[in-house]
Amino acid sequence: MRLTRYFLPVLKENPAEAQIVSHRYMLRAGMIKQQAAGIYSWLPLGFKVLKRIEQIVHEEQIRAGHIPLLMPTLQPADLWRESGRYDDYGQEMLRIKDRHDRDMLYGPTNEEMITDIFRSHVSSYKELPLTLYHIQWKFRDEVRPRFGVMRGREFLMKDGYNFDVDREAALHAYNRHMVSYLRTYERMGLTAIPMRAASGPIGGDNTHEFLVLASTGESEVFYDDAVTGLKLGNREVDYDDRAQVKAICDEFTTLYARTDETHDEALFDAVPEARRKVGRGIEVGQIFYFGTKYSESMGATVVTADGSRVPVEMGSHGIGVSRLLGAIIEASHDDKGIIWPEGVTPFHAGIVNLKQGDAATDAACEAIYAALKAKGLDPLYDDRDERAGAKFATMDLIGLPWRVTVGPRGLANGKVELTSRRTGISEEMTAETAVDRIAQIYEGV
Ligand code: ATP
Ligand code: MG
Repeated sequence: MRLTRYFLPVLKENPAEAQIVSHRYMLRAGMIKQQAAGIYSWLPLGFKVLKRIEQIVHEEQIRAGHIPLLMPTLQPADLWRESGRYDDYGQEMLRIKDRHDRDMLYGPTNEEMITDIFRSHVSSYKELPLTLYHIQWKFRDEVRPRFGVMRGREFLMKDGYNFDVDREAALHAYNRHMVSYLRTYERMGLTAIPMRAASGPIGGDNTHEFLVLASTGESEVFYDDAVTGLKLGNREVDYDDRAQVKAICDEFTTLYARTDETHDEALFDAVPEARRKVGRGIEVGQIFYFGTKYSESMGATVVTADGSRVPVEMGSHGIGVSRLLGAIIEASHDDKGIIWPEGVTPFHAGIVNLKQGDAATDAACEAIYAALKAKGLDPLYDDRDERAGAKFATMDLIGLPWRVTVGPRGLANGKVELTSRRTGISEEMTAETAVDRIAQIYEGV
């Protein structure tokens, strides 16, 4: 993309309404525009990152054997009357009437609808295990929408639902979700710690929240510092191997890590004092095992191997897709702007032309731009007729991890400069080497 042809409405001033850094940078970098409290338009740069995050979520869910579908945002109230949640949900639910005076609602979550789909089409244990998920907009009429996309009213969530014949199989589905979430967050450059959580209105006896440590997080967290060093990395996971998947979950949940809702002073005191940490975290996901809560009330049953009919065992598992943009920026920025991890960056590299209009410099930039695209990469070429300082400021603000700087002085020696946004370290090299380096960096991403 050429910057002169792009739509990147960068703000010079700090927007007064933004209280935290991620909200400030998302507005300043022209990623989002607020349309009403907690409701945003996703401008091109923000939309690009949102799509990259979605893509990673899809890839890791599919790797775990989970199946994508798409349910609507609007739901009939009658389904929620069956589970009893239409009355329980309260004012967070946006209730709507259609022209025939039928009660509808904008879905805050989809347990009822997915259970309805299941009961309409599945009746035998032979069709299990089954996990269906979608990535769809949700609406929750939050009392205090704030912090930009972090606590919106309309927000994008991945929500997945497992259906299993018995408790053991359902717990394996729970564990599968935990491992796939760990890999999902790691690919986004995040450390998200599974913490034992309290079950809310969804109910259930097994639930973990995934928290990204950040001083601006809304949850208070208590943890053994050693938990922050755990990494899944690139190890091979066979998602059908119950023992292997459980062993990984044990590895990540044995050390103390809890939110204030489940915090236990006595257990925490047993953590060696030097490793005992109290901090704040952003909830970027949650997994629940809740058994037959919905299948019983809504009549979702399967015939088992011995011919008896039982309510299906279920769980639901969510990732805050739009909130993740905020969480990633909170975890990865400096005073100049965002620093995107390679896994989610909107463009792979920026090209800065220091002397727009100079024939040799323009030609070198065009060649680099074409070469990066030929390697399957997506570069952003700042071809504006602007001072170098302004171009650098824009690149730093929007946070592309790699920048190629091209000017007449370097070109006289056959060199361009490759700069890492994260370390700020620049190296001189030929344009070909810079292109190869960038391509190599993204090979493993
Ligand atoms: P919270 O405690 O932050 O209100 P929740 O526990 O009610 O969230 P879940 O039902 O667990 O939310 O939804 C799954 C995920 O969706 C959450 O872990 C979070 O990342 C995201 N999410 C929930 N509410 C919002 C919101 N208002 N804005 C953006 N993301 C949200
Ligand atoms: Mg939650």
